[in-house]
Amino acid sequence: MASSSERASRELDPLLTPLQFLKGVGPRKSADLKRAGLVTVEDLLYRLPFRYEDRSRMQPIATLRPGAKAAVLGEIKSANVVVTRRRGFKIFHAVLGDASGAIRCTWMNQPFLADILKPHLAVIVFGDVKLDSSGLHFLNPEYELMSDDQSAVRTGRIVPFYEKTGTVTPNMQRRIVRQALDHIGEDVRDLLPADLRQRLDLMPRRQALEEAHFPDADAAVETLNAFRTPAQRRLIFEEFFLYQAGHAWRRHAASAEHKPFAVAVDDRIRASAAQVLPFKLTPGQREALKEIVQNMCRPSPMHRLLQGDVGAGKTIVALLAAIVAMENGLQAAFMAPTEILAVQHFKTLARLLAPTRFRVDLLTGSTPGLQKHTLLAHIERGTTNLLVGTHALVQEQIHFHRLGLVVIDEQHRFGVAQRAALQAKGLRPDVLLMTATPIPRTLALTDYSELDVSRIAGLPPGRRPIRTWVKPESRRDEIYQLMREQLDAGRQAYVIYPLVEESEKIDLRSATEMADHLQNEVFPAFRVALLHGRMKQDAKDQVMQAFVAGAVHVLVSTTVVEVGVDVPNASIMVVEHAERFGLSQLHQLRGRVGRGVWDSHCVLLYQSPWTDDARERLKAMSDTTDGFVIAERDLALRGPGDFFGTRQSGLPQLRTGDLVRDQAIMEEAHGEARRLVDADALTPDLRTFVARDWPQQFGLIEVG
Ligand code: ADP
Ligand code: MG
Repeated sequence: MASSSERASRELDPLLTPLQFLKGVGPRKSADLKRAGLVTVEDLLYRLPFRYEDRSRMQPIATLRPGAKAAVLGEIKSANVVVTRRRGFKIFHAVLGDASGAIRCTWMNQPFLADILKPHLAVIVFGDVKLDSSGLHFLNPEYELMSDDQSAVRTGRIVPFYEKTGTVTPNMQRRIVRQALDHIGEDVRDLLPADLRQRLDLMPRRQALEEAHFPDADAAVETLNAFRTPAQRRLIFEEFFLYQAGHAWRRHAASAEHKPFAVAVDDRIRASAAQVLPFKLTPGQREALKEIVQNMCRPSPMHRLLQGDVGAGKTIVALLAAIVAMENGLQAAFMAPTEILAVQHFKTLARLLAPTRFRVDLLTGSTPGLQKHTLLAHIERGTTNLLVGTHALVQEQIHFHRLGLVVIDEQHRFGVAQRAALQAKGLRPDVLLMTATPIPRTLALTDYSELDVSRIAGLPPGRRPIRTWVKPESRRDEIYQLMREQLDAGRQAYVIYPLVEESEKIDLRSATEMADHLQNEVFPAFRVALLHGRMKQDAKDQVMQAFVAGAVHVLVSTTVVEVGVDVPNASIMVVEHAERFGLSQLHQLRGRVGRGVWDSHCVLLYQSPWTDDARERLKAMSDTTDGFVIAERDLALRGPGDFFGTRQSGLPQLRTGDLVRDQAIMEEAHGEARRLVDADALTPDLRTFVARDWPQQFGLIEVG
């Protein structure tokens, strides 16, 4: 609750004035603005122009050249509406003249312009100059009547353009923004500490707002449109800095938290861990494990992300961390995103832990009720040492006896909300997140900003490169030949089908038909099986087990094998409709092969027509197998929202900054914010902001 003095000071802050109190806004427009998320003066001022145009130079009509943008001030000489043969389609023509000549202007399907752009009126027209058989003309240009408000906000300077908000036209918005700037006065509160501003040469907030909306006439339009003027930079930095300050503050607070248990490592524990190791750890694995265990031995809970490319060997590292926890008398939970993966982990972990005294259990959505009942008792009593399952593990009504470590596999969407869910259960275990989707640096600075990161560099020895082929569907026969060679050599194959929700049934049918076709016509000598998400759990298990055991040679599957599945003998993957898959998803899929000691192949079959995007994605796949390169390209192609998927993405709602465009500014802001928080040097204003306003400002879920 805000104290009354705080409330009073907020009421005095002119930035918090509701827009409806600005002159000329009124209830209807303010309702419109509100629907677009603009309620206060501050909201409006932080909705920066998305584009700027230089209209300071009017061109004489005689100097116009085709293909260039131009602004012309002239008089409407004549105007008429032409009805075309296409029913109801109308074209508005006007001829605009100045002292140097005349030019035609054409607007498609806007007959109402006849009532606005009437002969003898003075008008500024702005747009692309085109050339056709009857000469130069403007096609659908923007226009401004000189007779209505001639305020300097619209002409004779660099003009800002805003995203359209309801019925509020760009011109209206320019006018309201001007009023808002006048309303806030010259003296505006600034959350950026003065010394920081000085050191980084950031302009004052008031000035930045002014110049971002109404740049000086001599500002460079290119710099403005690249969002790199000092004014824009200052506002972007401000936003990122406030965002990072919130994360830094939370991280700092968490490091002061104490776990209700202690973890220590001694020689006995080291020996116990060594006993289960089936192979020598790679240097990268050893380094990551060391960081994790050191972190577990600290009094505050671990929040760590373990990154390692597909096949880097994260599972064993997590298992060793779990052994450390269990040797300390604690329980560990191991969560996977799919049942198939949970089952696979359960088998691997149970096999590796068989020589130890630790009991491993599996709990998934399809665990039968009676069995589940007994299992819950084991978990509550602490006789279950390691519990493997799907995400339900932390969400359901499960009571752990002494939960010390939670490992979350292949889940880059496990963010703020789920961490909060754990805490809401009164648990403060160590948390280790694992992902093979390399997270581009900018995104690592968002949802993961509070996390420590360990990275497994390199792959286990003996891996062979994967050859990637991008082929049109019409070359299917060659691909079957390649598959046959692999199968004859004793290897196994995946054939992957996309499963897009809206066409789920069709896709399922084509996957089913393909499995039949491959079995009966193409590979009658081998066993082909089908796996998809709609099958019952035991049916899935059976198929998967048969594939792991080598009894099934060709696995036709939907993307349920996308993450984590580990069958080293599989050496070829054919992805049908590869053009429909995202880049990171293709990388994950390809990671299912190349896990053994054989040369592997990944064939990406596409169906034309494909989009440019699809071509880019498949090209990226054949260019590199480096997960980081792929993630960066994926981010560039899709943008941050889609990269993570919008659900639970934990991406901040940003007003001025752009995660891709402004990566360098984000990094700078991150460093500065951490330094300030770690030096315990937050100003009282900043402290209030991070503690009270931060989650709302960035649209982040806060539980607690
Ligand atoms: P990911 O990091 O993709 O989860 P996994 O943990 O599934 O990778 O490991 C991939 C494969 O590599 C598994 O078959 C695993 O047994 C094997 N592996 C892991 N570490 C090593 C190692 N140090 N030496 C040899 N093989 C290893
Ligand atoms: Mg894995």
